[in-house]
Amino acid sequence: MTDHDAVAVEDFRPKFLARSSMARKAADAAIGATKKALIEMGRKHGRDIRLVHPAHTTMDCASCGARTKHALPLSERTYTCTACGAVSPRDKNSARVMLHRAGLNPAGAEGVRPPGAQLPEAA
Ligand SMILES: [Zn+2]
Repeated sequence: MTDHDAVAVEDFRPKFLARSSMARKAADAAIGATKKALIEMGRKHGRDIRLVHPAHTTMDCASCGARTKHALPLSERTYTCTACGAVSPRDKNSARVMLHRAGLNPAGAEGVRPPGAQLPEAA
């Protein structure tokens, strides 16, 4: 168990599978089943599953929300914001952008105690 009580799920739709309508149907069905399983799993564990549109998660700044003009090349592992100067590992930045879009506060996910948590310093 972790303190995270919400999970952001990327609302993905792989383009490479969408070339024929047959493949698209199969892909949609598979993705639909995956989402359904995730959502049901979340419900079972009392979690809050949110679907997030994945566009531009590698281009948006998690700190200030600015969007870079160019997608980062895959070889570039570090996101550097030209607007606010924030520098963070690419994957971490994308994850934070997704959490923001899901309406979740990344700081809350990492640092703030969940409601009802029994922590000594809460007294
Ligand atoms: Zn920024």
